[in-house]
Amino acid sequence: MHAPFFKQEAGWLSPVNPAVLVFGEGSGAEAAVQALQAHPVHWVGENAWALTETVRAYPRGMMLSVRGQRGHFHIEVQGTQGVQWLECGGIVLSPSPILEVPYSLGLPVSPLIHPLTHAQRIPAVGQQVAFYLGEEESGGFFTVIAVREAIRFAEMGSKVYFFFYDLPVAAEGFEALYEQGLKLGISFLRLLQPLHVVDEGNILRLSFRDPMLPQFEAIPLTAEILFAGERFRPSPEFSRLAELMGIQTDSEGFLQADNVLYFPIRTNRPGIYVLGTAKGSAYSLQASLEAQAIAGELAPCLTGEILIPDGFARVNSEMCSLCLSCYHVCNQRAITLDLEKKTVYVDPLACHGCGVCAAECPTMAITLPRPAQDLNPHTGKKIRLYSCENSGYLALRSLNLPVEWKDQLDMIAVPCTGDVGSLSILKDLADGARQVVLLGCHEGNCLGGGNRQAQARVLEIKEKLQSMGISARKVEWIAVAPNAPWECQNALRKVLDIKRN
Ligand code: SF4
Ligand code: SF4
Repeated sequence: MHAPFFKQEAGWLSPVNPAVLVFGEGSGAEAAVQALQAHPVHWVGENAWALTETVRAYPRGMMLSVRGQRGHFHIEVQGTQGVQWLECGGIVLSPSPILEVPYSLGLPVSPLIHPLTHAQRIPAVGQQVAFYLGEEESGGFFTVIAVREAIRFAEMGSKVYFFFYDLPVAAEGFEALYEQGLKLGISFLRLLQPLHVVDEGNILRLSFRDPMLPQFEAIPLTAEILFAGERFRPSPEFSRLAELMGIQTDSEGFLQADNVLYFPIRTNRPGIYVLGTAKGSAYSLQASLEAQAIAGELAPCLTGEILIPDGFARVNSEMCSLCLSCYHVCNQRAITLDLEKKTVYVDPLACHGCGVCAAECPTMAITLPRPAQDLNPHTGKKIRLYSCENSGYLALRSLNLPVEWKDQLDMIAVPCTGDVGSLSILKDLADGARQVVLLGCHEGNCLGGGNRQAQARVLEIKEKLQSMGISARKVEWIAVAPNAPWECQNALRKVLDIKRN
């Protein structure tokens, strides 16, 4: 089902569902539910409850399938009341990760060593206590817990050693905690390499190298108890959710791909957001702020309709052969199939107009309302330079290129280099271009992944040219950051085939 659209001067007005589905448990899900209290909220999760008046809770609930797009999702949920379909305009994911003491700490198995989060359960008077945070825990959630617990033990009379790699001493609120710890006599000991721990039955022998005294032997200490900092690891639910939602994960399996444009709360799919530990240990302390950011993004849906800019792709269904190439390349899942009518549709609410689908379509059935922008329309230029509007074009705009370059460059801005198909590149060469160069986003900086498509096409064409005995330099790809124009110019200098007069 596709929502009706109404053309406005500034774009298209589309009806959207103001309800939001929050999935998960713990402080992240609670923060999201609180922040979204202006919306009708479906809270699905192990411990979901009616936290605010607008919440409908589905305790022990689990999502089985998801259909639709931003503005009009349909979600099949299994809960204590059986299976039901819920409707909403946005989805917030906050599943709980698994807590574990990282293997990288290299600790022996010992009854004297406990996970940090168990510290509250351990009585402590007159003990020598050590806290040990691993290298991956640099100033995150567990650092704050550890310092608080260290202070508690110090106040009860324990001698406390606090081993760490990095502390956020300048962070708001943390500085005061750190000072309090110093005043109580806690020894904060910085590590550059792992702490060495030996269990001797009733005591732990510790040794470490002080980075300020590298010329000296390892310093020996003893402790009767050691609390090891933990870290979060994605549970199997993370990969199930990612597959269900069509969202990308990072290299560890947390629910946000390493892409600067997704920070802090977006995923590759418009309308689906993540927060807190769903993104990894480092984000545990930011869940409330991120919940506010999500509420800000979803606030326009409260009126029941939103304005979308006129940049989305259109499909001419009569030209579509239902080959599904576009369906597979669109990482926004903006393309849906209509098997009955033997065509595909682009959902304007999910499409960000990158044009990758149009470049892949073998029948030219997809068009974008924004044509490529000819920046230097003089004819007879010999190097065709396609630059992405979000990276290459912005970098080029800040440069004053040498005159002999300008005389030979035919510059065109495109919504994404993924929009430049192999046929366009080959046609440029056939039409007499000496070289075709694509300036696109760095890995992790492209919203739709069109940079990868463009690079793959360039590589493929290079191989074909080489196999025909033609120089592979005729087609080049350059990754560019919009705020690094000089890097752009240097990279261009290395690849451009400029002819001297
Ligand atoms: S590939 Fe890009 S232009 Fe095509 S439907 Fe997806 S987001 Fe829109
Ligand atoms: S790539 Fe073109 S022909 Fe293939 S399904 Fe998409 S619109 Fe239809």
